Amino acid sequence: MSKRDYYEVLGIERGADQKEIKKAYRRLAQKYHPDRNPDDDTSAEKFREVSEAYEVLADEEKRAAYDQFGHAGVDGQGGGGFGGGAGAGGFSDIFGDVFGDIFGGGGRRNPNAPQRGADLRYNLEIDLEDAVAGTTVDIRVPRHIACEHCDGDGAEPGSSKETCPTCHGQGQVRMQQGFFAVQQTCPTCHGAGQSIKVPCRKCHGEGRVRETRTLSVKIPAGVDTGDRIRLNNEGESGLNGGPPGDLYVQAAIKPHPIFERDGRHLLCDVPINFIDATLGGELEVPTLDGRVKLKIPPETQTGKMFRLKGKGVKPVRGGPPGDLLCKVVVETPVNLSEEQKDLLRSFQESLDGSNSHHSPKKSSFFDGVKKFFEDMKP
Ligand SMILES: [Zn+2]
Ligand SMILES: [Zn+2]
Repeated sequence: MSKRDYYEVLGIERGADQKEIKKAYRRLAQKYHPDRNPDDDTSAEKFREVSEAYEVLADEEKRAAYDQFGHAGVDGQGGGGFGGGAGAGGFSDIFGDVFGDIFGGGGRRNPNAPQRGADLRYNLEIDLEDAVAGTTVDIRVPRHIACEHCDGDGAEPGSSKETCPTCHGQGQVRMQQGFFAVQQTCPTCHGAGQSIKVPCRKCHGEGRVRETRTLSVKIPAGVDTGDRIRLNNEGESGLNGGPPGDLYVQAAIKPHPIFERDGRHLLCDVPINFIDATLGGELEVPTLDGRVKLKIPPETQTGKMFRLKGKGVKPVRGGPPGDLLCKVVVETPVNLSEEQKDLLRSFQESLDGSNSHHSPKKSSFFDGVKKFFEDMKP
């Protein structure tokens, strides 16, 4: 039987581009697909013919040979069509390529292709002092690495693998769903196409083992909560010889008993007694590099902020250091003796009830309150 012209089989012009070729093949392959035409020899033959034409015309090299020499140019190549054993593999590849998206199967991904390992995240809590000054910490990271015993293969060295009996090495099986056949990852080999006869005794056939590694991580000065430090290639190992993922060390600053961090600035509360607040004086306040003296002017009110320039944090991404903001909190005296209370009472008498002079805020507040209630009267 002489073969029909491939362009004629697909119903396209000789100058058709790859898009048109693929489109024509899809249409015809769906029409003559064996799943849609069970026990129909004519359709099966048409399907074979269409697939063969597509295999040649979709390949620029084969197509050029065909254009120049006709069937003689391509026969005998790669199994010479679709009848024989070697041809079956090529057949299924084309089938997968084109039908993957027709049937929504997402295409055929080669399960044996190299895959990059997953990235890992390590949450690291550090003290504020270390975060500001920078430090080096040792962390223990559990992760998967390629099994050394089987070299990541999963099979015990010396044992052989066998072609998966369910999918015959394709990694995919076709499931009939109503009218259509759907390609699915083989449930037996999970897409690998091969099954292991004797699993590696170290990794039990997984090809990877869990190990805990100790890594030294350099924490740059100025890191803040949420900053990530990337350690290249320290994540999970890849599959099928793919590269490993990365490890991200995510910093979180522990709460500090004295300082609160706000980006590059530090905040702290400084309690003072009401006598120092009234008369003024010198206070010792903490900074991250030791104590410094802070002059408090007379009549300092509670809540007043004092800014110590440059005593904050030098940002990790550069720029000038922030400031230390000290908030004065006037503390009410507690545990006073009767004698001390008497002194305060006579002090109070000395104020002579003239609130407006000694406590301007208090008197204006109570004036305001008085007015508020008077306005409410009908
Ligand atoms: Zn192993
Ligand atoms: Zn399988």
